[in-house]
Amino acid sequence: MLKKIPYHYHDNNNQLGTKENGVSNEGDDELRFISEDDGGCDVPKPGQRSWRILLVDDDEDVHLATLYALKNIKILGRPLEFLRARSATEARALVQKEADIAVALIDVVMETKDAGLLLVKFIREEVGLIDTRIILRTGQPGYAPENNVIRDYDINDYKTKSELTSGKLYATVTAALRSYSQICTINANRRGLALVVRASAELMLVLDIRDFASSVIGHVATLLDLPPQALICTRDAEGSGGFHVAAATGRFAQYQGQALDSLGDPDIGRMMERTAYKKRNEFLAGCATLFVGSSLGRDMVVFIETPAPLEDNERQLVEVFCTNISVCLDNAALVARLHDQAYFDPLSRLPNRPHFVEKIKEAFTTGKASQLTLAVIDIDHFAEANDAFGYHYGDRLLRAIAVRLSAAVGPDVVIARVAGDAFGLLGGDSVVNPTFLAELFRTDFVVDGNEHAVSATFGLACLSEVDSAADAMQDASIALKRAKLEHRGHYCYYTRSMGGEVRARVHLMQDLRRALGAGSLFLLFQPQINLSSGLPVGAETLLRWRTDDGQLVPPDQFIPMAEDSGLIVAIGDWVLRGACRELVALVAEGFANFRIAVNVSVVQFRHPDFIDMLERVITETGVNPANVELEITESVAMLDPERIVTLLKQIKEFGFTVAIDDFGTGFSSLAYLQRLPVDRLKIDRGFVSRITFEGEAKNIAEMIIDLGRNLGMEIIAEGVEDTLQADYLRARGCHEAQGFFYARPLDAAGLLEWLHQQKSC
Ligand code: C2E
Ligand code: CA
Ligand code: CA
Repeated sequence: MLKKIPYHYHDNNNQLGTKENGVSNEGDDELRFISEDDGGCDVPKPGQRSWRILLVDDDEDVHLATLYALKNIKILGRPLEFLRARSATEARALVQKEADIAVALIDVVMETKDAGLLLVKFIREEVGLIDTRIILRTGQPGYAPENNVIRDYDINDYKTKSELTSGKLYATVTAALRSYSQICTINANRRGLALVVRASAELMLVLDIRDFASSVIGHVATLLDLPPQALICTRDAEGSGGFHVAAATGRFAQYQGQALDSLGDPDIGRMMERTAYKKRNEFLAGCATLFVGSSLGRDMVVFIETPAPLEDNERQLVEVFCTNISVCLDNAALVARLHDQAYFDPLSRLPNRPHFVEKIKEAFTTGKASQLTLAVIDIDHFAEANDAFGYHYGDRLLRAIAVRLSAAVGPDVVIARVAGDAFGLLGGDSVVNPTFLAELFRTDFVVDGNEHAVSATFGLACLSEVDSAADAMQDASIALKRAKLEHRGHYCYYTRSMGGEVRARVHLMQDLRRALGAGSLFLLFQPQINLSSGLPVGAETLLRWRTDDGQLVPPDQFIPMAEDSGLIVAIGDWVLRGACRELVALVAEGFANFRIAVNVSVVQFRHPDFIDMLERVITETGVNPANVELEITESVAMLDPERIVTLLKQIKEFGFTVAIDDFGTGFSSLAYLQRLPVDRLKIDRGFVSRITFEGEAKNIAEMIIDLGRNLGMEIIAEGVEDTLQADYLRARGCHEAQGFFYARPLDAAGLLEWLHQQKSC
């Protein structure tokens, strides 16, 4: 009876080609028709969407007539797809498992007189299909549902079977489909907009650019109800212009973090470039490229595969989504920029110190620390290079070093700029070891076409021996300091004993700071005599520190520490003041020409406030500077010739006299010494003690005396302990002397008493 009915057929199990379990066996014929005619039938191609029509009727003829009436047609651009049930019961099972049923054509009288109506109630209330359009059909007009049923169950149409000629059926189904399609669009838009709003709110909180990118992929996929088969690109931050995959999912996942070129698909590359250039979304067959603009220059382009072409409303939603989230992208870009500024050194483009410390912390939290070594690389004499060639040159030199280091250590080693002229490395000891690092400095660095030899000092610490990032950094710095002290241009590994020493020093330093305020520092004065007359001429001021537990700390121990910390500036001020007061007191006692010598540290001397400090002390104590001698060490005098000469001249203008302390131990250039406005050379006590052992042989002390005489300077010898030394020095023409042979350092009262004794002898 029926020949070739072309349609897309689903049996109750929704499986094409299985024998249906319906009441009639004519289904077999239908199956045969389809397989015979699959060339011409309206089977939707993969990805092509169809309208799903549910046909419920216990009369097989009605089924066939309906299929026949609607065969081979497209409504609103889509083919039809039928789901069929021969009873209300069967239909109930079907509606529970099938989705997206656009129209249901339901017979009213089936198992019972109202089986169809109960089915409608079930569809609406139990299954909750409220969008599906329902057309009721009945053979007998007497079974028409009440009006309120039609309204309550949102029944689209009610027709007697005789009314439904094939032309009418077509018109009824078309109207129902149009209505269904409109409902779907409205719903999709409503859902889509809700998604867009939710996505924007969520994305506002995503501050990491990479997380942002992967969230965007997730949201686009949800919005379009697609599997997340996508990638998202940004321009390289360095401005090389290339695209870089910020996030990728599905088959693209492996390219995350790489250049887009690595994908090996020039078509995708071209499409994304075009979208970035036009700043516009593009929808093509099988894919879409979306543009997410950023006013901060961090534009993103999304590439997503779309198995079916997107509907208009879907496109509109995507447009809204992309425009909406660009504010969120700006937000994330801003945070990224702040992050860069906070965590990267702009000069070397390497991570900075805080970033480096974070990385060390991370190594501890992930349990990797025990296999890692931390190195701090300090560039020797960098400040000199900066001074000599200018800071632009210095910058370029640092950049060249950063480039070489980064290239050599590989991706597994963290490299950072941790101080002006210091780099930090964190990695395994196969790379982070002194041999490997020293090799990197063996050849010259080329800066502005000049070859520049650079040496470096390394402080290393094995993270297995510490428990925190802060300790690790401190240990490496301690090792570096030690390396600088002991083997300039070399390296030193941190050991526990170093830490102990440093901690002891830190405690001592804290105590010293307190001592200055608490009066536990005091001054002694060691007399100086004229060698030919044997009479006192002055005294050297020597600082003493008695700790709370009564111990005397030798100045050789605490002065270098005070110099390191800068505390010497305050201490030196205090000493000079005390010495001047003592001198004023002595003058009042009648020692009118007495001279007081005060040691001045290199740190004090270079301090910008030094000259002002001198002036203040003169005014405040009322001392006559002509009787105050400042002792500077030979090494101080050799620091920066021009500056020292200027400073010394200023000092002399006040009236102070100047002596070079520990003379002979430094490295003076004679020509330079000649230019220094200095009154006295003080022979170091080391040379004086050698007189005893070397006897009459030409001694360094003798050479210094000769030198001083040639330069027109006075000579004083310190550390004179016996007659032999005193006689030797006097015989060679040394003017003055100081030492235990004459007197030990004395307190103020002791000095006064000693002076009175000398006078009386
Ligand atoms: P210095 O300036 O060379 O001081 C002379 C040192 O030799 C003093 O040691 C003194 O006690 C010691 N001495 C004096 N006569 C003899 C002797 O016959 N034999 C021996 N073996 N030693 C003798 P002191 O007081 O321990 O000072 C050590 C160093 O501490 C000083 O060396 C000086 O560099 C520094 N210093 C002391 N007081 C001050 C100060 O107020 N300011 C600064 N900046 N440095 C100071
Ligand atoms: Ca001295
Ligand atoms: Ca000395």
